[in-house]
Amino acid sequence: MLPFARVSIIGMGLIGSSLARAVRARLPTVRLSVTDADPAVRARVIDLDLADDVADSPGAAVIDADFVILCVPVGAMAGVAASIAADLSPGCVVSDVGSVKGQVLADLTAALPGVAIVPAHPVAGTEKSGPDAGFASLFAGRWCILTPAAGTDPVAIERVRDFWTRLGATVETMDAAHHDLVLAVTSHLPHLIAYSIVGTASDMEAVTRSEVIKYSAGGFRDFTRIAASDPVMWRDVFLSNKDAVLDVLQRFTEDLTALQRAIRWGDGDALEALFTRTRDVRRTIVDAGQDTDDVDFGRPHD
Ligand code: NAP
Repeated sequence: MLPFARVSIIGMGLIGSSLARAVRARLPTVRLSVTDADPAVRARVIDLDLADDVADSPGAAVIDADFVILCVPVGAMAGVAASIAADLSPGCVVSDVGSVKGQVLADLTAALPGVAIVPAHPVAGTEKSGPDAGFASLFAGRWCILTPAAGTDPVAIERVRDFWTRLGATVETMDAAHHDLVLAVTSHLPHLIAYSIVGTASDMEAVTRSEVIKYSAGGFRDFTRIAASDPVMWRDVFLSNKDAVLDVLQRFTEDLTALQRAIRWGDGDALEALFTRTRDVRRTIVDAGQDTDDVDFGRPHD
């Protein structure tokens, strides 16, 4: 039996539209009702035929749904949750796809008392935004982390797990605070470094902009891809995962200072030891199937 029959998606950008496409492809009998704050996005979703209904408001989109997934920036979750509270059907399970979980769990719990809330984070994405950027296979073979509060109805958790498994994801359950620390290291800090390094390069007066573009293949290009990620989404990630990001940033700054010292004092052994250790980390990631061995990060997808 399908875990849910009537699914509602609020926010039809990269992740929301990928979810709609994945549901269409893998759960074709599910009835999909969606909405987005932007009328142009709603019109595009109709053109692309991504859902059965495209509603004008979140409240209208969730009526009759047995599963609602919020796919808006983390900072918009509280407002959207409040706007659907009066229209949810009894027994409806509410989830989200936000990249930060502690803040979202707190926001949804406060806005939706008595509702089964099972937050989720599909660890999959690209630097693109909007409904045209989505694709059905985005979640296949990727992790999806569930972070329900202690005491959440186990049946609701199991149904959400089943839903994501049917979309091809591998589901893991984790405490929200632990999720936020892990993702601060594996995702949030790398994005912050990319934003910072691309900003530094474009501000350097001794190096022209055309030289930055011309010689970008020397490592810089991969940072520019990450630094092209959605500004609103990432603003919200850093504001709502402040404590974990600042913790990890402190560690990183200390390690960077140690590298600075090694370079200043010509300590080649220290540099080589670190670079050998990090090469092993890369090998482990490739062996775990989390990336291919291709050097080109601009790999295509279907
Ligand atoms: P996106 O492509 O920018 O799409 C977000 C969509 O939500 C936009 O169309 C936006 O409309 C709409 N929206 C904003 N506020 C809204 C509101 N109050 N009511 C209804 N719709 C609203 O962003 P995304 O990459 O799909 O990210 C969505 C969520 O997924 C975020 O929470 C993010 O943390 C999470 N996530 C992202 C990735 C990734 O790699 N991108 C990966 C995993 C999880 P406007 O443009 O008009 O604001």
